[in-house]
Amino acid sequence: MNLVFMGLPGAGKGTQAEHVVERFDIPHISTGDMFRAAIKEETPLGKEAKSYMDQGGLVPDEVTIGIVKERLAKDDCKHGFLLDGFPRTVAQAEALEDILAESDRKIDHVVYIDVARDVLLARLTGRRICKNCGATYHVEFNPPKEEGVCDRCGGELYQREDDNEETVANRLDVNMQKQQSLLDFYSDRGYLRKVNGQQDIDQVTDDISKLVRGQL
Ligand SMILES: [Zn+2]
Repeated sequence: MNLVFMGLPGAGKGTQAEHVVERFDIPHISTGDMFRAAIKEETPLGKEAKSYMDQGGLVPDEVTIGIVKERLAKDDCKHGFLLDGFPRTVAQAEALEDILAESDRKIDHVVYIDVARDVLLARLTGRRICKNCGATYHVEFNPPKEEGVCDRCGGELYQREDDNEETVANRLDVNMQKQQSLLDFYSDRGYLRKVNGQQDIDQVTDDISKLVRGQL
């Protein structure tokens, strides 16, 4: 089962990916983990990626694609994998098809965890952090007993600059714009499957499992 997961920040992609790999016993391949592993193993591509990252630059596509290719060639991917965070662009998606075609594989499904923009905005702006001990809360999903006060230590709760509405809205809009051409690409190929991400976590996992098994 070869899967690609897509979703905007706050859609629950990482959480769902963890649940799904457990159910299907396939490796969860996230871009971050892949880079960290290649750097730690000091592969030639890992070293190259590190030199770009050390300079604070973006890792070029050919390096990223090379790292993905090496990862997908490993034994644990023989019976499937779940890619998370790659591809991000149509060019990367095309490169991925080429990589898979070399070993007679293809993508089975692209799972898009669909959550409305206003819901994402509420999820992402609701986080509050204790000034004193760093405990995190969410005004809606994990509220403190008393508004603005830490349950653990009584400290004052605040909202991080990155979590304010304007910053979050901007981040979402940039991401939505960037992913659209990729969604169109996979939709044209008939791989794209949308899942309602506005249900509780287990229901979303169940829907993804059914869809992947062809039951939805
Ligand atoms: Zn506290």
